[in-house]
Amino acid sequence: MRYVSTRGTAPELGFADVVLAGLATDGGLYVPSHWPSLPASLPDGYAALAAEVLMPYVGGDFTREQMSALCDGAYSGFRHPGVVPLVGLEPGHQLMELFHGPTLAFKDVALQLLGRLFDSILTARSERVMIVGATSGDTGSAAIDGVKGCDNVDIVILYPHGRVSEVQRRQMTTVDSPNVHTVAVDGTFDDCQDLVKAMFNDAPFRERHNLSAVNSINWARVMAQVVYYVEAARRIGGEIDVTVPTGNFGNVLSGWIARRMGAKIGRLVVASNDNDILTRFFETHEMRATGVQPTLSPSMDIQVSSNFERLLFEMNGRDGAVTREQLGRFRDKGSLLVEADQYDEWIAPVFRASRASDHDTLVTIRSVHETAGMLIDPHTAVGVKVARENMREGIPMVTMATAHPAKFPDAVERATGVRPGLPDHLADLMGRPERTVMLPNDLPAVEQFVASVAR
Ligand SMILES: *Cc1c(COP(=O)(O)O)cnc(C)c1O
Repeated sequence: MRYVSTRGTAPELGFADVVLAGLATDGGLYVPSHWPSLPASLPDGYAALAAEVLMPYVGGDFTREQMSALCDGAYSGFRHPGVVPLVGLEPGHQLMELFHGPTLAFKDVALQLLGRLFDSILTARSERVMIVGATSGDTGSAAIDGVKGCDNVDIVILYPHGRVSEVQRRQMTTVDSPNVHTVAVDGTFDDCQDLVKAMFNDAPFRERHNLSAVNSINWARVMAQVVYYVEAARRIGGEIDVTVPTGNFGNVLSGWIARRMGAKIGRLVVASNDNDILTRFFETHEMRATGVQPTLSPSMDIQVSSNFERLLFEMNGRDGAVTREQLGRFRDKGSLLVEADQYDEWIAPVFRASRASDHDTLVTIRSVHETAGMLIDPHTAVGVKVARENMREGIPMVTMATAHPAKFPDAVERATGVRPGLPDHLADLMGRPERTVMLPNDLPAVEQFVASVAR
């Protein structure tokens, strides 16, 4: 399998190079040169399914035996034997619980595999990398857990001081591994992201430390997420619709790919919070960026959905030059319009979208607690509210439950009066020693720290 950039000018690469590169050199995102079909028969067991579904994407760089071992390793640490269990919520509506991994959010499904892919590729090449990343909460801890203990990877995660929840912070700062480092930046999440971008733009620094990224545009993350859509469709049998609490469009894009590969998925329903750029796009055919508003579902508080570029590339007939031009206009004017025929061909048959406010989120958490006796997290609640509005007669709906309620205990308690407890493996989280450094929002200070911890 070869990979091409959505902006058309970066060199084609194989899978392993795409994993290490993250972003393409022309600023685009890598996509496979073609979409493979699902095999006629799917093996039992989640890890075996993952190896089977992903094999066409990694072919050439990993053998079937290697892929099976990596997937076994990635998913053996999940706390549920089904890895991503389906749980009944109400008639015709189930939740797929994606939060049974080590850090309690769906990002573990991809990052547990990505960490192992990195380690394996780097070991084979006798190379090392320094992963630097910014997090507003969930990505940092999932990335750290994915690479902790890897000999060939160091990781530095920047987070905004005082602006991540205590559970999220402790999940990052209590990891006791010589290759893991966290930095509390005296600034906002945007400041952290700008620092990371500035380090990548500092070419001598980037090369000296072999900087790498594991953010949501990394192809391997999108790829790994395809598997649970295939699993949902095969477990239910027959056509299903899926609702996805959406931020960067990574998760729902994986659903689109599963559908493209032949999984029996009818509609993909995009659920936004008040940061509703995607919902407005589906309503108006125009993508228009506004400011970011903080909500109860912070992992969906985004300004633009970076992974949408991969769908746009498909909508443009895989023409990188057209996609590049369109995104250039978006950057300059803050607006991107798709043609009516593109909309009718690509969006209308597949996607639906709605939003949920913070008020809707709390009402939904409460109603699920009252009717089903379950506690759900605010991101999942955004999905459930939107799913309920988009149910079709006779077609089962699956809503992706993206975080464990204990990750966002304040919102859950506010809605229900019940404070969700952490699962056993994290029960002593609040008592574990923390290890972090506090730095000013200052590039030289952060670069000096990164250099000092590089092994
Ligand atoms: C990251 C995240 C999302 C958004 O996922 P995208 O792939 O960015 O659309 C939703 N819910 C939770 C809990 C998350 O951590």
